[in-house]
Amino acid sequence: ISCTELTNKYLDSIETVNSKLNAYVTVTDNIALETAKKVDEKIARGEKLMPLEGIPMTLKDNISTTDVETTCCSKILKGYMPVYDATVWKILKKQNAVLLGKTNMDEFAMGSSCETSYFGGSLNPHNHGYVAGGSSGGVASAVGSNLAVYGLGSDTGGSVRQPASFCGLVGLKPTYGSVSRFGLIAYASSFDQIGPITTSVEDSAIIYDAISSYDPKDATSLGNKGIVSENKLTTSIKGMKIGIAKEYFDGIRDDVRESIEKSIEVYEALGAEIVYFNLPQIKYAVPVYYILACAEASSNLGRYDGIRYGYKTPKYNDLNEMICKTRSEGFGKEVQRRIMLGTYVLSSGYYDAYYKKAQKLRGSIVKAFKEAFDICDIILTPTVPTTAFELNFTSKDPIETYLTDICTVPVNIAGLPAVSVPCGFDSKGLPIGMQLIGNRFEDAKLLNFAYQYE
Ligand code: GLN
Repeated sequence: ISCTELTNKYLDSIETVNSKLNAYVTVTDNIALETAKKVDEKIARGEKLMPLEGIPMTLKDNISTTDVETTCCSKILKGYMPVYDATVWKILKKQNAVLLGKTNMDEFAMGSSCETSYFGGSLNPHNHGYVAGGSSGGVASAVGSNLAVYGLGSDTGGSVRQPASFCGLVGLKPTYGSVSRFGLIAYASSFDQIGPITTSVEDSAIIYDAISSYDPKDATSLGNKGIVSENKLTTSIKGMKIGIAKEYFDGIRDDVRESIEKSIEVYEALGAEIVYFNLPQIKYAVPVYYILACAEASSNLGRYDGIRYGYKTPKYNDLNEMICKTRSEGFGKEVQRRIMLGTYVLSSGYYDAYYKKAQKLRGSIVKAFKEAFDICDIILTPTVPTTAFELNFTSKDPIETYLTDICTVPVNIAGLPAVSVPCGFDSKGLPIGMQLIGNRFEDAKLLNFAYQYE
């Protein structure tokens, strides 16, 4: 079939089921069909296509796209049309990737269920009574329901891996610095990283190869250390060492633990050796992450003042009132909570007690991982302690929600690459994910490991 026919099929499916799933917040049918036409013309001329050329895909709504509304699923950015493309989109656009639309997310990527979105949450493709996960829930809901072949999300504390785990998909958080953050609307800059959500490890490797490169427009960009695909996924893992830290299994639901243990057996059968070690620093990961991420967010979100972007309150008497009302009306509850928490931990009287202490602990977590990789090649853990949450999860206690990020946030604290791979189902038919963590810039080795399991 032609690229136009394929694209139309996807657009038709979106039209039929998106109103229920709420995966897409913007559908870009004109852009998609225009690109598909270009690809068909290339095929007609007998030209060779690039790996991602003509493939229908989606972007999370915090990745800037010229002249396509980019809202971070917040009222404050409603109607905002970027005047430039994020580097990842610039790269994919050159490959004639077919952009079907922008997908739903927790507001400003703050959440674990997609339910803090101004547009409401996205449903889990396996069971519509459950969430797709967050914050990149829209991408996972779309890819899991075959409303896109793949999508790019962002992962600050698990937002690619957790929804991938909940929806039975592969979610990669690359090494910090390997994929450009230019044009990714910032949440917590020292943690944010863009990564793909796909149905296979091979697809993930192809996309990683395409999007990971040095970008002078991102001050923390480093590029990758060699591409992954092109026959690099089939290296034997015989004799390689898998590290298991018992702290990652504390508080994990029994069926999730059992599923992970079975995956460990699969690796043993493939010739990998298991090494047990302790990572007691993990108990600090959630508080360290939430203190530092909120501190960075409070600074990053200072730019939404009603003057430069999106929403502005209609009635005000002076400048201060305008800014105050714009931010109070434009930001949702969870975003406001985090701005206040972040401002508090950065305030002069509390800086040392919270922010500085958290930075110190971040250093000790980085060190602990460094030492772990002296004795093993890959660390294997659950991705999330449970399977997908029932709908309306976020309306519960926020601390309870934060604690579910325990397995994913350590990786962002240390800037490591990690991938979530489906490894089973619970009794309700909801997917379970295992997480593989690699050493810095060993994304290729990590994806090879994951591919061997599949
Ligand atoms: N759930 C985490 C948070 O709420 C992670 C979100 C993310 O990775 N963007 O901050």
